[in-house]
Amino acid sequence: MPTYEYKCDVCGYTFEKFQSMKDKAVKKCPKCDGKVQRLIGGGAAVIFKGSGFYATDYATSNSPACG
Ligand SMILES: [Zn+2]
Repeated sequence: MPTYEYKCDVCGYTFEKFQSMKDKAVKKCPKCDGKVQRLIGGGAAVIFKGSGFYATDYATSNSPACG
C-alpha cells in the first residue's frame, strides 16, 4: 500500500496517510478542517524512461490466431 502525503492549504500542515487506492482521499486537515491537497511523488510514483518503452509494435501486429 502506498503512503500518500497531504498538505493543508490553510495552515500548511503536512501529514502522511497510509491507505490503499480504493480508500477515499483525505480532503480535510485534521488540525484546522481546511482544504488539503495530495502531494504527488514519494515511493508510489511510476517513472517511465525513454529507452525500452515501445507500444506501437504490439498494437499494429494483430494477426488472426486461427491456422
Ligand atoms: Zn490545516
